[in-house]
Amino acid sequence: MPADTRLLDDESRALVDMVRDFASQEAAPAAAGYEASGEDPIELYRKLAELDLTGVPFPEEYGGAGASYLTYLLVVEELAAAYLALAIGLSVHTLCAFAIHTFGTDAQRKELLAPLARGEMLGAYALSEPEAGSDAGSLATRAERRGDSYVLNGRKVFCTRGADADLLLVMARTGGPGPRGISSFVVSKGSQGLVGERKEDKLGWRSSPTWMLGLTDLVVPESRRLGEEGDGFRIAMASLDSGRLGIAACAVGLAQAALDAAIAFTTEREQFGAPVAHQEGVRFMLADMATQIEAARRLYRHGAALRDAGHPYTLQAAQAKLFATDVAMRVTTDAVQLHGGYGYITEYPVERYMREAKGLQIVEGTNQIQRYVIGRALTEGA
Ligand SMILES: Cc1cc2nc3c(=O)[nH]c(=O)nc-3n(C[C@H](O)[C@H](O)[C@H](O)COP(=O)(O)OP(=O)(O)OC[C@H]3O[C@@H](n4cnc5c(N)ncnc54)[C@H](O)[C@@H]3O)c2cc1C
Repeated sequence: MPADTRLLDDESRALVDMVRDFASQEAAPAAAGYEASGEDPIELYRKLAELDLTGVPFPEEYGGAGASYLTYLLVVEELAAAYLALAIGLSVHTLCAFAIHTFGTDAQRKELLAPLARGEMLGAYALSEPEAGSDAGSLATRAERRGDSYVLNGRKVFCTRGADADLLLVMARTGGPGPRGISSFVVSKGSQGLVGERKEDKLGWRSSPTWMLGLTDLVVPESRRLGEEGDGFRIAMASLDSGRLGIAACAVGLAQAALDAAIAFTTEREQFGAPVAHQEGVRFMLADMATQIEAARRLYRHGAALRDAGHPYTLQAAQAKLFATDVAMRVTTDAVQLHGGYGYITEYPVERYMREAKGLQIVEGTNQIQRYVIGRALTEGA
């Protein structure tokens, strides 16, 4: 049973219906094949662009659809229910576009945001480094000023889309140690000195490329710096606040797909002379799964409503990411359990869903880090 759209306004409901059609007819049937081969579903991103889904929350003057962030998240949830890695790709693309929209100059928005929003380019976000993951403020990549350019040297890891991205938001150190010494830059694909050193093999999201990137004497003009020197960590964290709502929407979509599969299987599968869904033990599991998913959905939508109204939402984004991704892990695991042995074989999609849920608990700040963010907001203010 897909998400209830009865309380959405007409425009949002029409958009969700359109995305559902695309998701069920084109994305869902292709997902297992792409995940098995590890091939990047670039054709599907082109389709997203044709459907005006690559810039949903950005103003029309910069190539976007001018819709709310909540509307964008509804799109992400629907895509994730059909094909998680595709929704993740859109979410990371939006992370990069968000930073340019929020912190860029008008000229940067015209030059860089517009092609991203129109889907002519795909964006990526490069913060993590070999020795700086959760403690991203300690990153070591250097950006040395030389005239009206910067020269970047260092290494980035776990970069979604990475070397395949057209534009890469790169955080690098222009000043002293700690978060205040970091600046952010937008780097183009093919820049000399930007090398995709390794494409990672992964447990899930296999069709979402994850790159280790080498930056060697990479020259970036000053016009590609976002904000002022020293603003980079603030830009990176603001982008993650926004992105965490996207990961929460991905988790809700994935969990919904797992629940739907579990309902379909247990109402069909008969043991002891009746569908196993007639057993109270099974029904109670389905009831808990559905209730947790709906609670997670409410959390991310509340965070989005605060964001759209211009209120702070760091705390709510971290709560939504933490809760929704933990729900996705539990629900996908229970969906495997409810399929019995069939849940453990690749003919059914639920084993893939379970592998995919694990990644959601790790990216954009592990769930331990979400608790750290929530605890800090509760005791020190957001
Ligand atoms: C598939 C995938 C895609 C990704 N995409 C991107 C991307 O596009 N861009 C990008 O920049 N990064 C990306 N990442 C990186 C991701 O954000 C990091 O993996 C994550 O932030 C954790 O960093 P780490 O792996 O270095 O783990 P570490 O920080 O080394 O953590 C190891 C363990 O220690 C725990 N831990 C660390 N500090 C604390 C603490 N203070 N309190 C409690 N526990 C703590 C962590 O929760 C974790 O369990 C991606 C990762 C994956 C797996």
